[in-house]
Amino acid sequence: MEAQSLIIGGILIGALGVLAFVVGRLVHQRSMARHIATNGVTKSANLADSLRDEKLKSEIILNAIEDGVILLDDQKTIQLFNPGAAAITGWQADEALGLDFHAVIRLVDEKDSPYTEDQNPFNRVYKEALTVRDHEATLVSRSDKRISLNLSVSPLFDQNQEVNGAVAVFRDVSEERQQERQRDEFISTASHEMRTPVAAIEGYLSLALNDKVSTIDTRARSYLDKAHAATKHLGTLFQDLLTSAKAEDGRLSNHPRVVEVGECMEQLAQDLRFTAEKKGLSVELVIGSNQTIDASSTHRIIRPLYYAHVDPDRLIEVVTNLFDNAVKYTPEGKISLGLTGNDSVVQIYVRDTGPGIAREDVPHLFQKFYRVDNSATRTIGGTGLGLYICRKIIELYHGKIWVESELGKGSTFFINLPRLSTAQAEQMKAAEAAQPAT
Ligand code: ADP
Repeated sequence: MEAQSLIIGGILIGALGVLAFVVGRLVHQRSMARHIATNGVTKSANLADSLRDEKLKSEIILNAIEDGVILLDDQKTIQLFNPGAAAITGWQADEALGLDFHAVIRLVDEKDSPYTEDQNPFNRVYKEALTVRDHEATLVSRSDKRISLNLSVSPLFDQNQEVNGAVAVFRDVSEERQQERQRDEFISTASHEMRTPVAAIEGYLSLALNDKVSTIDTRARSYLDKAHAATKHLGTLFQDLLTSAKAEDGRLSNHPRVVEVGECMEQLAQDLRFTAEKKGLSVELVIGSNQTIDASSTHRIIRPLYYAHVDPDRLIEVVTNLFDNAVKYTPEGKISLGLTGNDSVVQIYVRDTGPGIAREDVPHLFQKFYRVDNSATRTIGGTGLGLYICRKIIELYHGKIWVESELGKGSTFFINLPRLSTAQAEQMKAAEAAQPAT
């Protein structure tokens, strides 16, 4: 899907280039015409010819391309509406010209809710003075049909560098989105169906490896050990594929409630430290800005209460994933699990002393199937789905996940979640308790 978006993005950027040229030529022609008129200069036959030629070329391009192209003025009124735009939106150019863009380009999100003014890429361009791309938008056509769009809107500037217009290029990608949905559905069904036989194979291999029920020689044991590890990996892959397909279409099971994140992290640090210690890595839990607690410590300390409204199982899944990655990619040193925050945010972090992540990889890390290509990842198994799933889960709770890393020094993965005040938490807990159990 990302490759497809890139290709389509490339085409759109190409089209935008052509368009910038065309719009530039039109503006140039107008100013030339004005210049000629105001100065009373006699038109030379050559200039008139070349202007006509340029205009013709611009019109040919705008009329020929399938992509929709529209031009808005400083009042966000439609000034140019090519046949591509008419075909996609169902509006004729003579109807659309002179209208506010809202009337013609009605955008909704995947839940069919209309875009808010702040979300609308056209408004954002006027506000942010930057090109805005939206590959998820859906257009409501004139006859109320839903059309999936790939949209790119760029600002136009006056002499003072103020935005005085916008040009939009868009393409109907309904067919591609439909194919994407079918592909995701197939992955979801296939991984669901394949989990059962894989679990059965894993179970029988465990039995074969169990001294109490089977007798095997050393060589057979070493083969079965490898088969068992590979089957476990396959099981994880199917589970990850299923989870990511569910996350994509909003079917991820999710039962949020008021959670005291500190308590959750203390328990988790106890459970997770074994995997790290098995590899010779030390583990610490840091609560607040400077309270460091050995992960094996059972002492209770007085600390702030960090409440958030999340599904604790999902939060544990995310932190476990980050912790497992830290263990997996760190050959030696320490892993720190941290919890801190301010009035509005609960922040969890997982810090390691591993190899770090190159700056150019960081923006892609939370994309589906992205794995950094280096000697470590070539030998260490993985699917490239873990961080993608983490992001999808954290976004369910209106949180944010990101990484800060330096090559050779280690990485820190951060999660920010909206924090509930103690009063809010008490109130919500009381409401939860009053609800009948499901
Ligand atoms: P994988 O199954 O490959 O671990 P993830 O989505 O969990 O998939 O991680 C994506 C990539 O991010 C990994 O392939 C790895 O290159 C990099 N990565 C994740 N965590 C760390 C870490 N703690 N240190 C270094 N690299 C990491």
